[in-house]
Amino acid sequence: MTTKFEPVIGLEIHVQLASKTKLFCSCPNGVGEDTKPNTAVCPRCTGQPGVLPVLTEGAVKLAVKAGLALGCKINEYSTFSRKHYFYPDLPKGYQITQFDKPINGAGSIEITFGPKENLQKKKIGIHHAHLEEDASKSAHFEDYSLIDFNRAGCPLLEIVSMPDMRSPEEAYAYLTEIKRLMKWVEASNCDMEKGELRVDVNVSLRPVGQEKFGTRCEIKNLNSFKAVKDALYYEINRQTELLNNGGQVVQETRLWDKEQNVTRPMRSKEDALDYRYCPEPDLPPIVLKHEWLEEVKKQMPELPAQKEAKFMAAGLNAYDAGVLTSSLDLATYFEAVTAGEKVPVKTASNWIQTDLLGMLHAEKKEIAQSPISAQTLAELLEMVEGGKITRKQGRDVFDKIWQEGGSPKAIVEKLGMVQVSDEGQLEEWAKAAIEANPKAVADYKKGNKAAIGALVGGVMKASKGKANPRLISQLLAKLLA
Ligand code: ADP
Ligand code: MG
Ligand code: ZN
Repeated sequence: MTTKFEPVIGLEIHVQLASKTKLFCSCPNGVGEDTKPNTAVCPRCTGQPGVLPVLTEGAVKLAVKAGLALGCKINEYSTFSRKHYFYPDLPKGYQITQFDKPINGAGSIEITFGPKENLQKKKIGIHHAHLEEDASKSAHFEDYSLIDFNRAGCPLLEIVSMPDMRSPEEAYAYLTEIKRLMKWVEASNCDMEKGELRVDVNVSLRPVGQEKFGTRCEIKNLNSFKAVKDALYYEINRQTELLNNGGQVVQETRLWDKEQNVTRPMRSKEDALDYRYCPEPDLPPIVLKHEWLEEVKKQMPELPAQKEAKFMAAGLNAYDAGVLTSSLDLATYFEAVTAGEKVPVKTASNWIQTDLLGMLHAEKKEIAQSPISAQTLAELLEMVEGGKITRKQGRDVFDKIWQEGGSPKAIVEKLGMVQVSDEGQLEEWAKAAIEANPKAVADYKKGNKAAIGALVGGVMKASKGKANPRLISQLLAKLLA
């Protein structure tokens, strides 16, 4: 007999905060691969004897902004601890982290998943989110290793979820939402390729209907959202087979091998490191002043959930509202296009998603690098909406501005683009189309209303795309009545 199991998933995510300096010294933060190794370092972040850490305000501020975005209770009093382990990438022999009193307490976020037409929402709890310093980076060769301390001491925020996810899709949606929120409030750039967002997943199974959680495994070394999903699928299958064959899951840390698409044991609970946590004696507690906290709250942008609700109230469906709030820049762009209230939200949404994002995607550009500003697109769409030019002409103007710049009005004038709405001219084309296509006419008269499409097409062709399609349909219907 096989039991039906339900997966239980919790994530621990490290995001690198986008502050100017490292967490406890004034070295530059996040210098990246193109900076020479061991040049963004000082005695403090390389753990020289006799130096003391000094907390930098920038990182604390970003941690609080992140906490506010995650709906966390901000703890006005939090402390640092030492977490000991011995590895060459850790210069002091311990990592300064927050342990029992983190800066951000419990919170929650809402995730969205499922098919486009039937999106589902679910609340996922955040256990807490704490500040800690990053380790350095080592590279291993045949009989020697190299260490780069540029990353040592960079500020990280570790976001620990509650075990609230029940499928790889939910975990993927959770990751997507965390990334959107962190970028939205500019707490982190979350570039996974640069290691600015790192994920460990915890997964266990329990028989459907059972309340008590099963034994979990933790999977490390996940370098992409896809790896997270793949590793979860693999691990859920592995644990299901194990349990159905009378085996037991042992609590252990496993590594994802993306070449072989498998997880492999790294260390079991028995080998779990004893970190010998103790309070950090060299740092005073972080005490957030009330006025300081109020000031940070004031600087918070409107969060994506609120923007989404606004966009939906204005007439967009949940899917479109989600796409247009995938980043703050995109949401701001959409708002600017529709600000004059001359362009309907659905029209703006279609153009932005199909035309603008299509082009940006093809050229690997961000919205901030768009050659067409929101004001320019608004001007263009007003001309299409007002019937001055057709949608097709609008797209031609769009492409021209994309290539060469310029204003929609000037280009429309220069190219002599006008939509023909003149009744006499339209009637001439319509009659010619009816003459040329007796089959469509017969079908239409037999009740196949869609047959009119062929006649509209004929007129569009004769007019070289300049005829007003709405007027043609009306006119043809009248002539065939
Ligand atoms: P640890 O102290 O070993 O790091 P935590 O209790 O802090 O463990 O949990 C770490 C992560 O594991 C959290 O994201 C949590 O949601 C998740 N988690 C805890 N128990 C389970 C479980 N039984 N199944 C799946 N995930 C779990
Ligand atoms: Mg943990
Ligand atoms: Zn330093």
